[in-house]
Amino acid sequence: MRRIENLGGELSAVASQCAVDFEGWFGEGPDPRWPTVFYEASFAGCSRNRLLRAYVVILAANPPHAGQRASEIAHELYHRATFGRPGMRREHWVDEMLAVRSAVHALRGTAFAAYADYLHGAIAQGSSAEFDSGYRDARPQRVLFGFRGTRFHRTFAPAVAALGVALEMVVGWPKLRALGFCPTCEAWTGSMDPRTRWLAHVTVGIEPYARPAPLPAGAGLTSKDWRDLAHCLLLTGRPALALDAVQAVPATDRGAWDCGTLEALAMTAMGDHRAAVQKYRDVAQSAAGDLVALGNLGAACLAAGMPADGLEAFRAALAIVPASSADRLGAGICLEMLGRLAEARTEFEAARASGDLPYAVTAEAHLKRLSVL
Ligand SMILES: [Zn+2]
Repeated sequence: MRRIENLGGELSAVASQCAVDFEGWFGEGPDPRWPTVFYEASFAGCSRNRLLRAYVVILAANPPHAGQRASEIAHELYHRATFGRPGMRREHWVDEMLAVRSAVHALRGTAFAAYADYLHGAIAQGSSAEFDSGYRDARPQRVLFGFRGTRFHRTFAPAVAALGVALEMVVGWPKLRALGFCPTCEAWTGSMDPRTRWLAHVTVGIEPYARPAPLPAGAGLTSKDWRDLAHCLLLTGRPALALDAVQAVPATDRGAWDCGTLEALAMTAMGDHRAAVQKYRDVAQSAAGDLVALGNLGAACLAAGMPADGLEAFRAALAIVPASSADRLGAGICLEMLGRLAEARTEFEAARASGDLPYAVTAEAHLKRLSVL
C-alpha cells in the first residue's frame, strides 16, 4: 500500500467538490475535523482509523482512465461523509447504490463531467440479462488484506448501480438520496404522492409488486411515466413487465423510436428474437435514414438466425453518411459484421479520435479486438 501525498490539481478539485456537495446533500458528516488520507492498493475502500484520528481512503492503483480514479474518490468520500450514520444506508444495497449515484452527481460539477455522463450512460444502457434480483439480501464476504475489507458477489455492484439509475428516474435525485436516512423503505415511500409511491414500489420490488404480475392500472400516470417505468423494469431484469408498461402508453403517444426500441429490447431479453426483428423493422422504417436503427435491426437479425437479412440491414446502414461519433462507431460495427475490417478500423479510429464518451471507449475496445483477429 502506497501513500498518495498529493492527488494533483483536478483530483483535489474533485475531493473539494465532494466535500461541498455531500455536506449539502447529507448534512455535516462524522468527525468533521478529521483529515482524509489517501493510499493506493489493489482495491478501493474507506475506513475510520481511531489511532490516526483520520479517514483512510484507498484507491485502486493504475486506473485505466483518470475519470475512474475521480469516480473512486467521489464514491469513497461518500462513505466517509455518511460513515456510521443511522437510517436505511445501513442496508448494503442502499449504501452502495447511493455511493454510485452520489459519485455521478458530484463529478458533474468537476472537470470529469463527461466521464460522469459516460458512467451514467453505461449503466442506463446496460443489459439487464444478469440483474441480481437478490440484491436486497446481499451480504459482503469479509476479506483480509492486512486489514479488514469487504467484498460482494460480482453481480451486486452492477445490480445496485442499475437500480439507482432506475429509481432516480422515477423519484428524482433529491428523494432518492433521502432514502439513506429514512428508518425504513415504507417510511420513505409514505411521504410521496400516490403516483411516485406506486412507481417506487414497483421499481424496488416492494410487495405486492415484487413478482411478475399484470401491472395494475396506475391512476394518473403519463405516457412518459410508463416509458420511464418500462426502462426501469428492463434495467432491473423484468422484461415481461416492461413490455406491459410500454403497451400502457396510449397509441397516439407512442413515437415508434422510443416505444418500439423499448419493446424490442424487452423481447430480446425474453429470448423472442423474431418478434424483436419485426419491432426493429418498424423502428427503422419510421426513422428512415437512421444508422443506429438499421444497425440494431442487423444485430437482431443475426441473433434471430437470419444472417442474410442482418447483412442487408448493415449494408443499408452503410449507405447513410455518418454524421456523429455514434454513427461512425455504428458504421464501424456494420463494416466489421460485413468482414470489411480495414474500413471498420478507419471508422473506429475516427470515433476514438473524437474523444466523445462513451463512443470513444467502445471504439477503443473494438480496435483492440480487431488487432487480435
Ligand atoms: Zn462503496
